[in-house]
Amino acid sequence: MAKARLKEHRINSEWCKGCGICVAFCPKQVLALDDKDKAESLHEENCIACKLCELRCPDLAIEIETEAPKEGA
Ligand code: SF4
Ligand code: SF4
Repeated sequence: MAKARLKEHRINSEWCKGCGICVAFCPKQVLALDDKDKAESLHEENCIACKLCELRCPDLAIEIETEAPKEGA
């Protein structure tokens, strides 16, 4: 079965406390902290939708929404 692709990162800035765990665990260096110490998606095109950031965030501030791969992709 083909892997699901990233559709959207949903980052809840209200809940994000800037701990940087998601940044550290992302294997593709997709995430970074902005100047307010909130997680942001900097290189979304590199995201492999592994959901490690979603799983590791202690504050449930990141949600990964995926879509089924397109036919033939
Ligand atoms: S792991 Fe969660 S709380 Fe920590 S920086 Fe990332 S989004 Fe924010
Ligand atoms: S889903 Fe995986 S690759 Fe994408 S931002 Fe989260 S940890 Fe990084």
